[in-house]
Amino acid sequence: MHCHNEESMSQISIFGKIIIERMYNEKLSAALEELAGKTEGEIKTDRLTTLVYSTDASIYREEPLGVFYPRNVSDLRELLSFASENRVGIIPRAAGTSLAGQVVGSGIIADMSRHFTHVIEVNRDEKWVRVEPGVVPDELNKMLQKEGLLFGPETSTSNRCNIGGMIGNNSCGLHSVIYGSVREHIIEVKDLLADGSEVVFGPLSADELKEKCRVKGPEGDIYREISNMMEDSANRESIMRDYPERNIPRRNTAYALDDLLFSEPFVTGSGHSLNLARLIAGSEGTLAIVTEAKLALVPLPPRIKALLCVHLRHRDEAFRANLIALKYNPWAVEMIDSRILSLAEESAGQRSNRFFIEGNPGALLITELCADRAEDIMSSAGAMEREMRAEGLGYAFPLVWGDDIKRVWDLRKAGLGILSNMPGDAKPVTLIEDCAVAVDRLEAFVAEVEKMLESHGKDSVFHAHIGSGELHIRPVLNLKDKEDAKLLRVIGRETAHIVKRYRGSISGEHGDGRLRGEFIPIIIGEHNYLLNKRVKNCFDPLNILNPGKIVNTPPMDTSLRYVPGRITPDLQTWYDFTAEGGVIRAAEKCNGSGDCRKSSIIGGTMCPSYMATFDERLTTRARANIVREMLNEVKPDPWDSPEMMEILDLCLACKGCKRECPSG
Ligand SMILES: Cc1cc2nc3c(=O)[nH]c(=O)nc-3n(C[C@H](O)[C@H](O)[C@H](O)COP(=O)(O)OP(=O)(O)OC[C@H]3O[C@@H](n4cnc5c(N)ncnc54)[C@H](O)[C@@H]3O)c2cc1C
Ligand code: SF4
Repeated sequence: MHCHNEESMSQISIFGKIIIERMYNEKLSAALEELAGKTEGEIKTDRLTTLVYSTDASIYREEPLGVFYPRNVSDLRELLSFASENRVGIIPRAAGTSLAGQVVGSGIIADMSRHFTHVIEVNRDEKWVRVEPGVVPDELNKMLQKEGLLFGPETSTSNRCNIGGMIGNNSCGLHSVIYGSVREHIIEVKDLLADGSEVVFGPLSADELKEKCRVKGPEGDIYREISNMMEDSANRESIMRDYPERNIPRRNTAYALDDLLFSEPFVTGSGHSLNLARLIAGSEGTLAIVTEAKLALVPLPPRIKALLCVHLRHRDEAFRANLIALKYNPWAVEMIDSRILSLAEESAGQRSNRFFIEGNPGALLITELCADRAEDIMSSAGAMEREMRAEGLGYAFPLVWGDDIKRVWDLRKAGLGILSNMPGDAKPVTLIEDCAVAVDRLEAFVAEVEKMLESHGKDSVFHAHIGSGELHIRPVLNLKDKEDAKLLRVIGRETAHIVKRYRGSISGEHGDGRLRGEFIPIIIGEHNYLLNKRVKNCFDPLNILNPGKIVNTPPMDTSLRYVPGRITPDLQTWYDFTAEGGVIRAAEKCNGSGDCRKSSIIGGTMCPSYMATFDERLTTRARANIVREMLNEVKPDPWDSPEMMEILDLCLACKGCKRECPSG
C-alpha cells in the first residue's frame, strides 16, 4: 500500500486533467499520469482535495493518495487495473456520511456521487427501479411518488446519502420495523470485480448455481468458494451458532454469511433463493464496485398518519412503553432522550421543532401510526395511551398530524448532528452507537452498558430506533485527551462482550468500517471470522477494494481525527468565538454529517456552492475540514495558506449553514 512518506519531490505538474502537486514516487506518478490519459474522469491529488476527503462522519482521518471522479464503467476498469498494478487501495465513496470510517483510507477515493447519478428504468407494474449508485434516495422517492411507489429503507441522512452508500452499509432507519434494510429490497446488482470483469449478482435457482460454479474465472471462483463454504457442516454449525440471533432484524456485523446460509439451496424452505447481491449489501465496498442496482419498490404508505408522542418521566420507562407500542402495528417507534431535547433548544434550526413538547420529559417515545382513516389512528392511539397509563407509563400523549409530522421527525433525525453542539472538547462519540439486541432484552442490555460506562466514569446519550432493538448509545469522550482516547478500545471491547451475551449485533445499520472490525471475532467467533476472510480473499485476492474495512482492519484507535494529547491552539480572532471555545472548536463542531450536500431538489439554502456544482470541495463540511486542518498547523500565521484562500473563496456568506447545519 502506498504511504505518504514515500513523497520524494514537491512540485506542481499539470498533465491534462490531472494536477499532481505532490509527487509520490516516479513509478506511481507515471502510472497516475497514464491513468489520467486513459480515462474521461478527473483525478485530483492536490492537498486541498486530499484533505477534504480525509474524513467522513466518523472519528477517523487519513489523507488519501488522490480522488478520482469516474464518468463511466470503463474509467472504473482503468482505475482497478491501476490499483492492481500498483497495489493501491480503491475506496468507493458515495456521500461520505459513514460513521465507522468506511470511506477513510490511504488509497484512491472513487467518488461515485458526481457522475453515477441516473435513474435508468422504473417498472411500475413489477415494482422495481434500476439506478446508478450516486442516486439520492429522497430524490428518487420524490420522483417515484407519482407512480405511487417508494424505495422503503431510509436513513436519517436520506436527503443526501446515495443508494451506493446505502447498499455498502446495508442501511435502514426510522421505518425499519416495516421496511427492514436495503438487503431485503435488493434484487440485483451490476458490479465490477477486482479484476475489472463485470458481473450481475441476482437470485439463482439450484440449477443456475451449478451452472455458475462451472464458469471459469473470478465469477465462477466466487460461486465455487461460497458453495464449498456453505456445504461444509462445520461452517454451517458455526454460522448458525455464533452469528447474531436471527430474530434481530438489524444484523450488520461482518459479511452476511448467515443470510447466504439461510437461502435455497443451502437451507430448504428458507424463503429466498441464493442471491449474492444480498452479500454485497453491507460489504462496504470491500468486495466489488456497484455500478447499477435493481431495487424492489413498495406501494406508498396509507394516506393518513399521525405520531403519538409519549412523554415519559424517566428514560427507563421507554423500554416497557416500546413493547406496548409494538403491539399496535406501528410504522416506527423511536426514542429521543432528554439530553438531545435540551441541545435542540440551543440549535437555531431545531428549536421550533420542539413545538409539541409539554413540560420537561425524561424521554419521548414517538410512535408512527398509519391508516386509511383518521378514526382508526385515533382508536389505536387511544387504546395505546390507555394501556400505557394503566402501566403507569407516560404523562402526556399529544397526537401530531399533517405537516407537523415532518417537524417532529426532523427533530429526531437531527439527533446525531446536534450532539456535536455539546460545548467543549468532550463529545458523544460514535463507537457503540450501533448495537442491536432483541427488543424484550433491550432494557437489561442498556442497564449493563450503562453500568460498564459508569465504571469508567462516563455517561452517554441514548436515542433512536428503540422499536427495532437499537438505541444509539454515545459515550461522552474527549478524544483529544490521551486517557479518553485509550478508553475507545476498552469501551468498544467491553461492549462487544456484552452484546455477545445477548447474541446481538455490534453493527445494526452503521456498518463495521474500521471502527468495529476489531471486535467482529468477539461477536461471530474466530471460525466465522476466518470464513469472512476467505470471502474477502476470493472476491479481492490482491486486497485493493477498500482495504482495512470489516476484515483485517488497522487498530481501531489509529488515524483518529484528533491527535490525542495535541493542544488545540488558542488563536486571536476579529470575531468573538468565546461561546464555542475559540475558532478552531467552532470548526470542529462539524462532525461530517454532510447535511450541506443536499441538492436544490431537496430544498433549503445550505449550501448554494455545492448545489450549483455537486463538488464535495464546495460544501460547508469541506470548509470546516480545511479551517480545522490549517488552523491546527504550527506556523507563524496559520490563516495564510492557499488552501484556506481557495476553500473560503466560493463561500457566498449567505449564512444558510447558520440555520440549517445541525451543528450550528
Ligand atoms: C447524522 C447521521 C445519521 C445517520 N443515520 C443513519 C440511519 O438512520 N441509518 C443508517 O443506516 N445509517 C445512518 N447513518 C450512516 C450513513 O449516513 C448511512 O449508512 C448512509 O447510507 C451512507 O451513505 P453514503 O452515501 O454517505 O455512503 P458512504 O459513506 O460514501 O459509503 C458507505 C459505504 O458504501 C461503500 N460504497 C459507496 N458506493 C459504493 C459503490 N458504488 N460500490 C461499492 N461500495 C460502495 C463505501 O465504500 C462505504 O463502505 C447516519 C449518518 C449520519 C452522519
Ligand atoms: S455561508 Fe452559505 S455558501 Fe458559505 S458555507 Fe454556509 S451555506 Fe455554504
